[in-house]
Amino acid sequence: MKVGIMGGTFDPIHLGHLATAESVREIFKLDEILFIPSARPPHKVERQITPEVHRLMMTFLATKSNEFFQVSPMEFLRDGLSYTLDTMEALLKKFGAGSELFFIIGADSMADLFKWHKARELVSKVHFIATNRPNVEVDLAEVKNFFGESAMTHIHPVSTPSLEISSTDIRERIKSGRSIKYLVPEVVEEYIIKERLYK
Ligand code: ATP
Ligand code: MG
Repeated sequence: MKVGIMGGTFDPIHLGHLATAESVREIFKLDEILFIPSARPPHKVERQITPEVHRLMMTFLATKSNEFFQVSPMEFLRDGLSYTLDTMEALLKKFGAGSELFFIIGADSMADLFKWHKARELVSKVHFIATNRPNVEVDLAEVKNFFGESAMTHIHPVSTPSLEISSTDIRERIKSGRSIKYLVPEVVEEYIIKERLYK
């Protein structure tokens, strides 16, 4: 079993997340992609994040039409800060021996990976698929320098068609009354309107 993991605040989830996950699934022949909305990301403590129930609902709605996409609320069910290593260890236990996890991460976040909680241990346990983002290059020499030569078999830079969409931009658009059509799935747009999110 090869499982892709797409983590993020998904506040809200958008077509950039979905299109990237689908490309990676095909390229790496993954059996499924598990979307895991994050609870209290250690690096995003500054901004007021939308309640978990809404982010989870939007993630369910956005992924329901893809049979390979699954959603897990596991990071919401744990207390304290959510660390990726804890989540990955729980998943490795769940999927069992012989399963491999592929954490999908944008090049922007990949550049910060060395700052993550127990980053070296994390990279030794799961694969990282670093997707291209506009104006960001993953510095492989720097990655190798920090994680060591042997870790490089767990780091996979990949190029997927990039959609210049961000949740920040979507939130700002809603606040200023602009359209978010064709940036998020229609069901997500409908949910945002119904629940009056990001006003
Ligand atoms: P925010 O603007 O609030 O930071 P975001 O759009 O960057 O939100 P996140 O939830 O922070 O979304 O991102 C989760 C993951 O998705 C990260 O690995 C990030 O690199 C990746 N990602 C974000 N936007 C895109 C995009 N347009 N295309 C591909 N990957 C993306
Ligand atoms: Mg981001």
